[in-house]
Amino acid sequence: MLAENEIKRVLVVTAHPDDADFGAAGTVALLGDRGVEVTYLLVTDGDAGGNERTLDNTGMAELRRTEQTAAAKAVGVTDLRFLGHSDGTVVPSLALRKDITRVIRQVRPDVVITHHPERNYQHIAPSHPDHRAVGGSTLDAVYPDARNPYAFPELLLEEGLEAWKVREVWLTGGSTPNHWTDITEVIDRKLAALQSHVSQVAHVEGFADFVKSRFAQWADQAGFGEGHYAEAFQIVPTA
Ligand SMILES: [Zn+2]
Repeated sequence: MLAENEIKRVLVVTAHPDDADFGAAGTVALLGDRGVEVTYLLVTDGDAGGNERTLDNTGMAELRRTEQTAAAKAVGVTDLRFLGHSDGTVVPSLALRKDITRVIRQVRPDVVITHHPERNYQHIAPSHPDHRAVGGSTLDAVYPDARNPYAFPELLLEEGLEAWKVREVWLTGGSTPNHWTDITEVIDRKLAALQSHVSQVAHVEGFADFVKSRFAQWADQAGFGEGHYAEAFQIVPTA
């Protein structure tokens, strides 16, 4: 695993607004506090989200971008990029790999945080098909596309984007985590980030308690002790 001082830039690639906040906002807050530059890349605008069952989701994409921008700010992130794919329809594809490769080459991150691409059979929610597609395509973009100048050569020839080697990928939502971040000191900022997604969580009764108990469970698994909160990752060396 990379040492703290080897991590200067981090790119978080997620399918929907709020994914980064559930999976990694506490870790992101801690990274930002020690000067790491963090960028969020969102593949969709979450335009199939929401709880008003009117089936007219006009304006939802724009609302959710605004909510994600506020959530990012709560944990110190101001660089957000949106690919604008349609929520609920993401599949692994060369087009998606190229879009993600472009941003990896622009941002040049040491670490990429994204969804685990495999289905979690212990808990269904992290395995939304969009999550698996984004996780898989992001790993493919990390290896081999972003580091191979012959992959999508137009990125180099037309956009001047040099090959870039990401050194580690941290996967969220998998069933076999091997690293836990103690986020106790920033749990309130993670909660504020999550609560910025008003259209998604404002109606959920006991939401704060739900969040705290869920991340206390990870802390328990990590052995951090009573009163602690943690986020869990599977770290994949990709150097
Ligand atoms: Zn999601």
